Formats: sequence, C-alpha cells, structure tokens
Amino acid sequence: LSRYRTDFHEIEQIGIGNFSNVFKVLKRIDGCLYAVKHSTRQLSQETERRKALMEVQALAALGSYENIVGYYSSWFENEWLYIQMELCDRSLSINKANTMFTEGQVLEVLHQVAKALLFIHERGIAHLDVKPDNIYVKNGVYKLGDFGCATLIDKSLPIEEGDARYMPQEILNENYDHLDKVDIFSLGASIFELIRGSPLPESGCKSFNLKEGRLPLLPGHSLQFQNLLKVMMDPDPVKRPSARELVENPIFDWALRK
Ligand code: ATP
Ligand code: MG
Ligand code: MG
Repeated sequence: LSRYRTDFHEIEQIGIGNFSNVFKVLKRIDGCLYAVKHSTRQLSQETERRKALMEVQALAALGSYENIVGYYSSWFENEWLYIQMELCDRSLSINKANTMFTEGQVLEVLHQVAKALLFIHERGIAHLDVKPDNIYVKNGVYKLGDFGCATLIDKSLPIEEGDARYMPQEILNENYDHLDKVDIFSLGASIFELIRGSPLPESGCKSFNLKEGRLPLLPGHSLQFQNLLKVMMDPDPVKRPSARELVENPIFDWALRK
C-alpha cells in the first residue's frame, strides 16, 4: 500500500531535478495543495540514504521560517524517499523566468534570502547550493529551498558540492573552513545572474577575477550595490560579509522603503 497514493492525489509534475521529480499534489484529507518531491533512484545503499536524509533532517531541525520553503513530512516507500513541502509558484531559474530584474527587485530577493541564510547559519547549517533555481517565490515572498546539499557548518565538510557555477574557488581547492561564506558567495553570484538576465558562463563568477575588482560593469546600477556584490564574491571568504552583516546593510534601508 502506497502512502503517497493513499494520502495524495497527483495533479501534475512541476519539476525535474538531478535526483528527484517534484509533483503538485492535493492532500485528500485537508484539501490543500502541496509539492511532493521523490527521489528518481532507489536509495538502496546506506551512504545514499544518509545523504538524502540530510535534506529532511536539516529542514526538520530548522523549523519553519517565512523565507524558507516549508517542510511538512517525509517517509520512505520501499527505497524511495518522499518529501512533502509547501507548494511555491515558481523558482527564479534564469532559464524559466526570462525577466530582467531591476535593482530594486533584486535587492528584495537579496534581503529575503540573506534573512533565510542568517536563520540557517545561526542554527549551524550551511545550504551550499544557493542559486536562482533554488530560490522560490510564493505570493511575492522569496523562499530558499532545495536543502539537498545542506551540511553542518562546523563539520567543515560538504555532503555534496552544489552547482559549480555558483561555487567560490576555495571549494574547488577543498578548503571548507568557512562554509557559511560559501552561501554568501553563491548568493552574490545568483543576484549577479538575475540582474544580468542571462545564465552565468560554465566557469561561473570566479572567472571574473574579482581580486582585481574586475566585476564586469553593471551599467545603471548604483556603486553601493556593485560594491556589495563585489565584496560578497571576494575570493577571500573572511572578507565576505556574514549573513547578519548583509541583512543589516544600510543599502536595504532606502531600497525597501515603499
Ligand atoms: P537539483 O539538485 O538538480 O537542483 P533536485 O533533485 O534537488 O534538483 P529540486 O531542486 O528540489 O530537486 O526540485 C526540482 C524542481 O522542482 C525545481 O527546480 C522546481 O522547478 C520544482 N520544485 C521543487 N520544489 C518545489 C516547490 N516546493 N514548489 C514548487 N516547485 C518546486
Ligand atoms: Mg534544485
Ligand atoms: Mg538539489
């Protein structure tokens, strides 16, 4: 007997990831819509299972927060892992949303995702796969999702490395001393991609040689904003702002006053 089939009515497939399919479903007992993600491979090996379980264990340990995709429950059916989550409208994947963001709009994304990072970093967890595809929108609220690469900051070891295009150089050098700052770099790279309106090159943002301050100019954007992106993507993780410093940056004082 399948708990999935018993409890949910499948409406449509809404996503295909590397390791999972995501469906829009109706929960029969409460009449509400959810997203259910299930693995595309049977998790027969202990190491595979442990990796997959990190995602639900991180979500469950974190608890609910407005800027994080909500988590409801998870279960195994045979060797397939199911995760019931809050249904969002869409993700910010640059390939799907062919909209160019204005500075005011990206500042809103930046602020809300920075708040999500502050929340998880304070609880000792790093996301390690921050990218537009993993930032969701629901009713105008931005939410960080896909905790498939999440790990404990002080373990100084990623479970699995996220999308290389958004990773800083130190990860490729296998320096895992500041995993929280990896998220800050990836968020900077994501915001940069959103204002560019076109996908990052395969080599990602680390190819922009930020050490010499050569962030390709973003015409029409304030210097304050450009400098913030630059310092978020500083090659030295220690120089990058913490999530708290980011959330409290004065750039948000005027940008978010409506
Ligand atoms: P990858 O690691 O390749 O990014 P994944 O296997 O970890 O993928 P997710 O990124 O979690 O899977 O989900 C795959 C896709 O499903 C997303 O890109 C998104 O389009 C959709 N999706 C996932 N979760 C939700 C949700 N809660 N609400 C709406 N759509 C979702
Ligand atoms: Mg994803
Ligand atoms: Mg993932």
